[in-house]
Amino acid sequence: MFASCNSAIRRSHLETVRCIVCGREIQIKDDPMTVRPAWYWKTCACPECRHNYPPSLIKACGDSFRYTLKLRNSEAKVDFSRARINGSWVTVMCAGNDDLIKLDGVICPRGADININDIEWVADDT
Ligand SMILES: [Zn+2]
Repeated sequence: MFASCNSAIRRSHLETVRCIVCGREIQIKDDPMTVRPAWYWKTCACPECRHNYPPSLIKACGDSFRYTLKLRNSEAKVDFSRARINGSWVTVMCAGNDDLIKLDGVICPRGADININDIEWVADDT
């Protein structure tokens, strides 16, 4: 009996996942030749959300890590570890009790709601 060469070859296929921002079902091409970081599958976003929101902010919705954003028209920078986007607002939070959101000197133990239009930049791994 011959072993099929094709059985050893993994082919690309479509994975159905939910957009981490809006929850819409999306299909992602899972290509076995593409090396993806461990957080990739929990931070997928639909084309509309990828168009509307910065990549680091989308990633913060599914991958708790170290992020910083800067507010426009202010020197304030906000360190956070996770985010939840709802329309034109994002709620930024810290995962641990030791690190609290500080916004213009105000400590926000339950996170802070920031209008996305007021964000100048967002950085991942800060
Ligand atoms: Zn979406």
